[in-house]
Amino acid sequence: MKHTLFAISTVVLVWAVGASAQAFPNRAQDQVKAVATLPDIADLVKVIGGDQVQVKAICKGTENVHAVRLKPSHVVMTSRCDAFFQVGLSLEHAWVPGLIKTSRNREIQAGQPGLVTLSQGLTVLNVPTSLSRREGADLHPEGNPHVNLAHNAGRHMAALIRDTLTRMRPKHQAEFDRRFKAFESQSLKAEARWAKLEGALKGRKVIVYHTEFTYLLNDLGIQVIATIEPKPGVPPTPGHLTKVIQTARENPGVVILTAAWSNNRAVDRVVTVGKGKKLVLASMARSGQSWLASMEAMHVALAKAFQVPYGMEPDKPAPPAKPANADEKQTKS
Ligand SMILES: [Zn+2]
Repeated sequence: MKHTLFAISTVVLVWAVGASAQAFPNRAQDQVKAVATLPDIADLVKVIGGDQVQVKAICKGTENVHAVRLKPSHVVMTSRCDAFFQVGLSLEHAWVPGLIKTSRNREIQAGQPGLVTLSQGLTVLNVPTSLSRREGADLHPEGNPHVNLAHNAGRHMAALIRDTLTRMRPKHQAEFDRRFKAFESQSLKAEARWAKLEGALKGRKVIVYHTEFTYLLNDLGIQVIATIEPKPGVPPTPGHLTKVIQTARENPGVVILTAAWSNNRAVDRVVTVGKGKKLVLASMARSGQSWLASMEAMHVALAKAFQVPYGMEPDKPAPPAKPANADEKQTKS
Protein backbone atom coordinates (compact mmCIF):
# COMPACT_ATOMS: atom_id res chain seq x y z
CA MET A 1 0.00 0.00 0.00
CA LYS A 2 1.33 3.39 -0.99
CA HIS A 3 2.01 5.91 1.72
CA THR A 4 1.88 9.61 1.14
CA LEU A 5 2.27 12.13 3.88
CA PHE A 6 2.02 15.77 3.03
CA ALA A 7 4.84 17.64 4.71
CA ILE A 8 3.36 20.40 6.81
CA SER A 9 5.79 23.25 7.13
CA THR A 10 5.96 26.09 9.61
CA VAL A 11 5.16 28.41 6.70
CA VAL A 12 1.91 26.56 6.20
CA LEU A 13 1.14 26.82 9.91
CA VAL A 14 1.68 30.59 9.97
CA TRP A 15 -0.60 30.94 6.96
CA ALA A 16 -3.08 28.56 8.51
CA VAL A 17 -3.36 30.37 11.84
CA GLY A 18 -3.77 33.64 9.95
CA ALA A 19 -6.69 32.15 8.05
CA SER A 20 -8.13 30.43 11.11
CA ALA A 21 -11.25 32.57 11.24
CA GLN A 22 -12.55 30.56 8.27
CA ALA A 23 -12.02 27.22 10.00
CA PHE A 24 -15.05 27.49 12.26
CA PRO A 25 -17.21 30.32 10.96
CA ASN A 26 -19.50 30.83 13.98
CA ARG A 27 -16.82 31.43 16.57
CA ALA A 28 -19.04 33.83 18.50
CA GLN A 29 -21.12 30.85 19.62
CA ASP A 30 -20.23 28.78 22.67
CA GLN A 31 -20.09 25.68 20.48
CA VAL A 32 -17.43 22.99 20.83
CA LYS A 33 -15.19 23.17 17.77
CA ALA A 34 -14.31 19.61 16.84
CA VAL A 35 -12.17 17.90 14.22
CA ALA A 36 -12.78 14.26 13.34
CA THR A 37 -10.47 12.08 11.30
CA LEU A 38 -13.28 10.11 9.60
CA PRO A 39 -16.66 11.26 8.25
CA ASP A 40 -18.19 8.46 10.39
CA ILE A 41 -16.93 10.19 13.52
CA ALA A 42 -17.93 13.68 12.32
CA ASP A 43 -21.46 12.34 11.82
CA LEU A 44 -21.61 10.92 15.36
CA VAL A 45 -20.23 14.14 16.88
CA LYS A 46 -23.02 16.06 15.14
CA VAL A 47 -25.64 13.47 16.09
CA ILE A 48 -24.71 13.75 19.78
CA GLY A 49 -23.68 17.41 19.90
CA GLY A 50 -26.42 18.94 17.72
CA ASP A 51 -26.30 22.74 17.76
CA GLN A 52 -23.70 22.70 20.55
CA VAL A 53 -20.92 21.61 18.17
CA GLN A 54 -19.24 22.55 14.93
CA VAL A 55 -17.41 19.59 13.46
CA LYS A 56 -15.17 19.04 10.45
CA ALA A 57 -13.84 15.78 9.08
CA ILE A 58 -10.43 15.39 7.48
CA CYS A 59 -11.08 12.28 5.36
CA LYS A 60 -13.57 12.44 2.55
CA GLY A 61 -14.20 8.72 2.69
CA THR A 62 -12.73 8.11 -0.74
CA GLU A 63 -9.09 7.77 0.29
CA ASN A 64 -6.85 5.23 1.98
CA VAL A 65 -7.18 6.09 5.67
CA HIS A 66 -3.62 4.89 6.32
CA ALA A 67 -2.18 7.46 3.91
CA VAL A 68 -4.14 10.70 3.90
CA ARG A 69 -2.84 13.66 1.94
CA LEU A 70 -3.14 16.62 4.29
CA LYS A 71 -3.96 20.14 3.14
CA PRO A 72 -3.28 23.52 4.78
CA SER A 73 -6.99 23.75 5.64
CA HIS A 74 -6.57 20.66 7.85
CA VAL A 75 -3.90 22.49 9.85
CA VAL A 76 -6.21 25.49 10.12
CA MET A 77 -9.04 23.52 11.64
CA THR A 78 -6.79 21.44 13.89
CA SER A 79 -4.96 24.48 15.24
CA ARG A 80 -8.22 26.03 16.44
CA CYS A 81 -10.31 23.08 17.58
CA ASP A 82 -11.35 22.27 21.17
CA ALA A 83 -11.49 18.52 20.57
CA PHE A 84 -9.85 16.16 18.08
CA PHE A 85 -11.53 12.76 17.62
CA GLN A 86 -9.66 9.82 16.11
CA VAL A 87 -10.20 6.05 15.90
CA GLY A 88 -6.67 5.29 17.15
CA LEU A 89 -5.00 1.85 17.19
CA SER A 90 -2.55 3.34 14.63
CA LEU A 91 -5.33 3.67 12.00
CA GLU A 92 -4.37 7.32 11.38
CA HIS A 93 -0.81 6.96 12.63
CA ALA A 94 0.84 8.07 9.37
CA TRP A 95 -0.68 11.54 9.51
CA VAL A 96 -2.40 12.41 12.81
CA PRO A 97 0.64 12.72 15.13
CA GLY A 98 2.38 15.07 12.64
CA LEU A 99 -0.77 17.10 12.16
CA ILE A 100 -1.34 17.50 15.89
CA LYS A 101 2.25 18.46 16.54
CA THR A 102 2.25 20.99 13.71
CA SER A 103 -1.05 22.49 14.85
CA ARG A 104 0.61 23.61 18.13
CA ASN A 105 -2.84 23.35 19.70
CA ARG A 106 -2.15 22.65 23.39
CA GLU A 107 -5.64 21.30 24.04
CA ILE A 108 -5.20 18.28 21.79
CA GLN A 109 -1.58 17.24 22.31
CA ALA A 110 -0.93 13.64 23.40
CA GLY A 111 -2.24 13.10 26.93
CA GLN A 112 -4.53 16.15 26.86
CA PRO A 113 -8.31 15.60 27.27
CA GLY A 114 -9.01 17.30 23.93
CA LEU A 115 -7.47 14.34 22.05
CA VAL A 116 -10.09 11.60 22.10
CA THR A 117 -9.43 8.04 20.91
CA LEU A 118 -12.72 6.34 20.16
CA SER A 119 -11.45 2.77 19.83
CA GLN A 120 -10.68 2.74 23.55
CA GLY A 121 -12.67 -0.01 25.25
CA LEU A 122 -13.59 -1.91 22.07
CA THR A 123 -12.42 -5.48 21.60
CA VAL A 124 -9.47 -5.48 19.19
CA LEU A 125 -9.03 -8.29 16.65
CA ASN A 126 -5.85 -9.58 14.99
CA VAL A 127 -3.44 -8.30 17.65
CA PRO A 128 0.00 -9.43 16.37
CA THR A 129 1.88 -11.87 18.55
CA SER A 130 5.23 -10.62 17.25
CA LEU A 131 6.28 -7.48 15.46
CA SER A 132 8.68 -8.95 12.93
CA ARG A 133 9.53 -6.50 10.15
CA ARG A 134 10.98 -9.22 7.94
CA GLU A 135 8.09 -8.97 5.47
CA GLY A 136 7.92 -5.16 5.73
CA ALA A 137 6.32 -2.74 8.18
CA ASP A 138 2.93 -3.80 9.52
CA LEU A 139 0.21 -1.18 9.07
CA HIS A 140 -1.70 -2.71 11.98
CA PRO A 141 0.92 -2.99 14.75
CA GLU A 142 -1.66 -2.71 17.57
CA GLY A 143 -4.15 -5.12 16.01
CA ASN A 144 -6.80 -4.44 13.40
CA PRO A 145 -7.68 -0.73 13.69
CA HIS A 146 -10.71 -0.68 11.34
CA VAL A 147 -13.08 -0.91 14.31
CA ASN A 148 -15.44 1.73 12.90
CA LEU A 149 -17.08 -1.10 10.90
CA ALA A 150 -18.02 -3.22 13.94
CA HIS A 151 -21.77 -3.48 14.44
CA ASN A 152 -21.56 -2.01 17.95
CA ALA A 153 -18.97 0.66 17.06
CA GLY A 154 -21.53 3.41 16.48
CA ARG A 155 -22.94 3.10 20.01
CA HIS A 156 -19.48 2.78 21.54
CA MET A 157 -18.05 5.84 19.76
CA ALA A 158 -21.23 7.85 20.39
CA ALA A 159 -21.00 7.12 24.15
CA LEU A 160 -17.39 8.36 24.30
CA ILE A 161 -18.38 11.45 22.29
CA ARG A 162 -21.27 12.09 24.72
CA ASP A 163 -18.88 11.85 27.67
CA THR A 164 -16.37 14.21 26.05
CA LEU A 165 -18.98 16.82 25.16
CA THR A 166 -20.54 16.57 28.63
CA ARG A 167 -17.14 17.20 30.20
CA MET A 168 -16.62 20.23 27.95
CA ARG A 169 -20.15 21.67 28.22
CA PRO A 170 -21.70 20.24 31.42
CA LYS A 171 -24.72 22.53 31.24
CA HIS A 172 -25.87 20.68 28.09
CA GLN A 173 -25.59 17.21 29.64
CA ALA A 174 -29.34 16.51 29.41
CA GLU A 175 -29.35 17.34 25.69
CA PHE A 176 -26.33 15.11 24.97
CA ASP A 177 -27.92 12.27 26.95
CA ARG A 178 -31.21 12.63 25.07
CA ARG A 179 -29.46 12.67 21.71
CA PHE A 180 -27.34 9.65 22.66
CA LYS A 181 -30.41 7.65 23.70
CA ALA A 182 -32.16 8.45 20.40
CA PHE A 183 -29.08 7.31 18.45
CA GLU A 184 -28.68 4.21 20.59
CA SER A 185 -32.23 3.15 19.87
CA GLN A 186 -31.75 3.72 16.11
CA SER A 187 -28.49 1.77 16.12
CA LEU A 188 -29.98 -1.15 18.06
CA LYS A 189 -32.74 -1.42 15.44
CA ALA A 190 -30.14 -1.47 12.66
CA GLU A 191 -27.99 -4.00 14.55
CA ALA A 192 -31.02 -6.29 14.86
CA ARG A 193 -31.51 -6.04 11.10
CA TRP A 194 -27.82 -6.80 10.48
CA ALA A 195 -28.01 -9.76 12.88
CA LYS A 196 -30.77 -11.22 10.69
CA LEU A 197 -28.41 -10.97 7.73
CA GLU A 198 -25.79 -12.78 9.78
CA GLY A 199 -28.17 -15.72 9.88
CA ALA A 200 -28.14 -15.86 6.08
CA LEU A 201 -24.42 -15.16 5.57
CA LYS A 202 -22.81 -17.16 8.36
CA GLY A 203 -20.12 -19.47 6.98
CA ARG A 204 -19.95 -17.79 3.56
CA LYS A 205 -16.43 -17.24 2.25
CA VAL A 206 -14.57 -14.19 0.95
CA ILE A 207 -11.11 -13.21 -0.17
CA VAL A 208 -10.01 -9.69 0.82
CA TYR A 209 -7.27 -7.41 -0.42
CA HIS A 210 -6.57 -5.49 2.83
CA THR A 211 -7.97 -6.53 6.21
CA GLU A 212 -10.15 -3.43 6.50
CA PHE A 213 -13.51 -5.24 6.62
CA THR A 214 -12.53 -7.70 9.36
CA TYR A 215 -14.95 -6.41 12.05
CA LEU A 216 -17.88 -6.25 9.62
CA LEU A 217 -17.19 -9.75 8.28
CA ASN A 218 -16.64 -11.10 11.78
CA ASP A 219 -19.99 -9.73 12.96
CA LEU A 220 -21.69 -11.36 9.96
CA GLY A 221 -19.95 -14.71 10.44
CA ILE A 222 -18.32 -14.47 7.01
CA GLN A 223 -15.07 -16.42 6.73
CA VAL A 224 -11.96 -14.86 5.15
CA ILE A 225 -10.22 -17.67 3.24
CA ALA A 226 -7.34 -15.62 1.81
CA THR A 227 -5.84 -12.14 2.04
CA ILE A 228 -4.16 -10.74 -1.06
CA GLU A 229 -1.82 -8.61 1.05
CA PRO A 230 0.44 -11.10 2.87
CA LYS A 231 0.63 -8.60 5.75
CA PRO A 232 -1.33 -5.33 6.19
CA GLY A 233 0.19 -2.73 3.89
CA VAL A 234 2.53 -5.14 2.11
CA PRO A 235 1.77 -5.77 -1.60
CA PRO A 236 1.60 -9.41 -2.70
CA THR A 237 4.63 -11.19 -4.14
CA PRO A 238 3.99 -13.23 -7.33
CA GLY A 239 4.23 -16.42 -5.25
CA HIS A 240 1.66 -15.24 -2.71
CA LEU A 241 -0.68 -14.09 -5.50
CA THR A 242 -0.47 -17.54 -7.11
CA LYS A 243 -1.53 -19.15 -3.82
CA VAL A 244 -4.50 -16.76 -3.50
CA ILE A 245 -5.54 -17.49 -7.11
CA GLN A 246 -5.39 -21.20 -6.32
CA THR A 247 -7.66 -20.67 -3.29
CA ALA A 248 -10.09 -18.68 -5.47
CA ARG A 249 -10.15 -21.47 -8.06
CA GLU A 250 -11.00 -23.98 -5.35
CA ASN A 251 -13.98 -21.76 -4.43
CA PRO A 252 -15.64 -20.90 -7.75
CA GLY A 253 -17.36 -17.48 -7.83
CA VAL A 254 -15.90 -16.47 -4.45
CA VAL A 255 -16.53 -12.83 -3.51
CA ILE A 256 -13.34 -10.74 -3.48
CA LEU A 257 -13.65 -7.68 -1.28
CA THR A 258 -11.55 -4.63 -1.97
CA ALA A 259 -11.59 -0.84 -1.70
CA ALA A 260 -11.22 1.67 -4.52
CA TRP A 261 -7.79 2.75 -3.19
CA SER A 262 -6.32 -0.75 -2.97
CA ASN A 263 -3.89 -2.30 -5.45
CA ASN A 264 -6.68 -3.42 -7.70
CA ARG A 265 -4.40 -4.79 -10.41
CA ALA A 266 -3.68 -7.68 -8.05
CA VAL A 267 -7.38 -7.96 -7.21
CA ASP A 268 -8.36 -8.00 -10.89
CA ARG A 269 -5.87 -10.79 -11.52
CA VAL A 270 -7.47 -12.92 -8.79
CA VAL A 271 -10.91 -12.06 -10.19
CA THR A 272 -9.97 -12.93 -13.77
CA VAL A 273 -7.67 -15.91 -13.32
CA GLY A 274 -9.30 -17.23 -10.15
CA LYS A 275 -12.81 -16.57 -11.49
CA GLY A 276 -13.96 -14.61 -8.46
CA LYS A 277 -16.57 -11.89 -8.06
CA LYS A 278 -15.21 -8.44 -7.19
CA LEU A 279 -17.00 -6.27 -4.64
CA VAL A 280 -15.70 -2.77 -3.95
CA LEU A 281 -16.70 -1.32 -0.59
CA ALA A 282 -15.58 1.76 1.32
CA SER A 283 -14.12 1.26 4.77
CA MET A 284 -15.65 4.45 6.14
CA ALA A 285 -18.57 6.78 5.49
CA ARG A 286 -18.36 9.34 2.70
CA SER A 287 -18.40 13.08 3.49
CA GLY A 288 -21.85 14.01 4.70
CA GLN A 289 -23.00 10.38 4.96
CA SER A 290 -24.04 9.08 8.35
CA TRP A 291 -22.32 6.14 10.03
CA LEU A 292 -25.63 4.28 10.02
CA ALA A 293 -26.24 4.93 6.30
CA SER A 294 -22.71 3.86 5.43
CA MET A 295 -23.03 0.62 7.41
CA GLU A 296 -26.45 -0.03 5.91
CA ALA A 297 -25.07 0.42 2.38
CA MET A 298 -22.33 -2.15 3.11
CA HIS A 299 -24.87 -4.71 4.31
CA VAL A 300 -27.02 -4.12 1.23
CA ALA A 301 -23.97 -4.58 -1.03
CA LEU A 302 -22.89 -7.78 0.75
CA ALA A 303 -26.40 -9.25 0.58
CA LYS A 304 -26.51 -8.48 -3.14
CA ALA A 305 -23.08 -10.01 -3.77
CA PHE A 306 -24.10 -13.23 -1.97
CA GLN A 307 -27.58 -13.12 -3.54
CA VAL A 308 -29.28 -13.19 -0.17
CA PRO A 309 -32.55 -11.28 0.35
CA TYR A 310 -32.18 -8.30 2.65
CA GLY A 311 -34.48 -5.40 3.36
CA MET A 312 -35.10 -2.71 5.90
CA GLU A 313 -38.27 -4.40 7.16
CA PRO A 314 -38.02 -3.39 10.83
CA ASP A 315 -38.21 0.30 9.90
CA LYS A 316 -40.90 -0.05 7.24
CA PRO A 317 -44.50 0.69 8.19
CA ALA A 318 -46.64 -2.43 8.36
CA PRO A 319 -48.49 -3.15 5.09
CA PRO A 320 -52.17 -2.15 5.09
CA ALA A 321 -54.37 -4.84 6.56
CA LYS A 322 -56.33 -6.90 4.06
CA PRO A 323 -60.09 -6.31 4.01
CA ALA A 324 -61.80 -8.85 6.23
CA ASN A 325 -63.68 -10.36 3.29
CA ALA A 326 -60.38 -11.07 1.42
CA ASP A 327 -59.35 -13.49 4.17
CA GLU A 328 -62.81 -15.01 4.08
CA LYS A 329 -62.53 -15.70 0.34
CA GLN A 330 -59.09 -17.32 0.82
CA THR A 331 -60.44 -19.54 3.57
CA LYS A 332 -63.34 -20.64 1.40
CA SER A 333 -61.30 -21.40 -1.73
ZN1 LIG B 1 -5.72 -1.14 7.53
